[in-house]
Amino acid sequence: MTWDYLIVGAGFAGSVLAERLASQRGARCLVLDRRDHIGGNAYDKLDTAGVLIHPYGPHYFRTNSDRVIAYLSQFTEWHRVDYRVLSWTNGQHWQFPINLNTFEQFIGHPSTPEAMAATLAKSRVPIESPRNSEEVIISQVGRPLYELFFKNYTRKQWRRDPSELDPSVCGRIPIRTNRDDRFCDEKFQALPRDGYAAMFAKMLAHPNIEVRLKTDYREARQHLAFKHLIYTGPIDEYFDRCYGALPYRSLRFEPETLPVEYHQPAMQVNYPNDHAYTRVVELKHATGQKLPHTTIIREYPQDYAPGLEPYYPIPAPDARAQYSRYAERAAVERGVTFVGRLATYRYYNMDQVVASALTEADKLPILSGD
Ligand code: FAD
Ligand code: UDP
Repeated sequence: MTWDYLIVGAGFAGSVLAERLASQRGARCLVLDRRDHIGGNAYDKLDTAGVLIHPYGPHYFRTNSDRVIAYLSQFTEWHRVDYRVLSWTNGQHWQFPINLNTFEQFIGHPSTPEAMAATLAKSRVPIESPRNSEEVIISQVGRPLYELFFKNYTRKQWRRDPSELDPSVCGRIPIRTNRDDRFCDEKFQALPRDGYAAMFAKMLAHPNIEVRLKTDYREARQHLAFKHLIYTGPIDEYFDRCYGALPYRSLRFEPETLPVEYHQPAMQVNYPNDHAYTRVVELKHATGQKLPHTTIIREYPQDYAPGLEPYYPIPAPDARAQYSRYAERAAVERGVTFVGRLATYRYYNMDQVVASALTEADKLPILSGD
């Protein structure tokens, strides 16, 4: 048979598009993923100890978009969480992102929002338009706090100095002079109540959608007939790396189950200046699962090589320039839509991918028989 849409990737980008096209247009969609599960990097599962884990790194859903909340709420109830993260350095835990409590710990005595703002005003480096991730932090808090929390974490995570990364990388992290110690600013912060995998299963349950797992598009395509392709994999791979391999950052996850109710005092502890790993995630703090044991996952950044997962596009001018050559080719590739974090080479959060997939769904050409 001829599919209306062949969709490569069952992550947020592919699943939202399959759902929209099937339920709004009655289109017949075939979704392929080379992994053995749906959900892309947002996939979650119970490990062998029965603890709900995010095997591809912690996925804290948050958004300011009413459209995205309303859309996803068709497929899940929510478990509201204020995500809280600590940073471990100089032998102690610090509240992170930087807020008034962190500042008090730093100066060693109680303070006020006004006093903190006045101190930062003196220590910050005056830069009107920060051009990179070093400048975006030193222009807000000055060098000592930058060096304590950002410099080495960023080098470890990206194997690049913050000065070589876009301002948006470290600029993702809020800096506050009040006592708000939540990791994120967004108004809606919640996890799907029954997990991401269950939410994706509902999205893809439409009778017009077929999902084939452990199926690589590059091998399956010659046997498939379709009218339009939606591609959410790495864009350089689609074009056989004709302009060279794009740079990505990869990760290695090391899970450990421990016979204690909780191992650490928060859902996530960051290690800017100690260890080869960047963070230790104990998701139980966020899911609220009640169990006498726990699972933690240590996250080690590593260089990307074919065969590893390309977790992060590199938000930097040189990588973007290389990507722009692929983007030019993608713009004239007939019958194909490129969407999602890897296909558009953007450091997108989940809600941004959902929003862009919803927008694409409205723009896609009407196929004959649609
Ligand atoms: P993906 O989820 O990567 O899905 C693409 C899918 O395509 C994959 O399943 C892949 O197997 C498949 N695929 C690729 N090529 C082929 C092929 N040739 N054939 C078949 N299948 C193929 N966002 C947040 O909002 N909050 C967070 O806290 C957060 N934390 C993150 C932590 C980490 C460690 C990472 C890596 C990302 C995090 N994100 C977070 C971002 C989030 O993962 C992405 O925004 C979102 O999952 C992107 O969805 P996607 O569909 O574009 O891509
Ligand atoms: N970052 C840092 N120190 C921290 C946490 C984050 O320097 O303790 C920087 C680092 O460059 C990181 C970026 O801020 O890549 C964004 O952090 P976030 O936790 O949002 O990263 P993600 O969850 O996307 O990996």
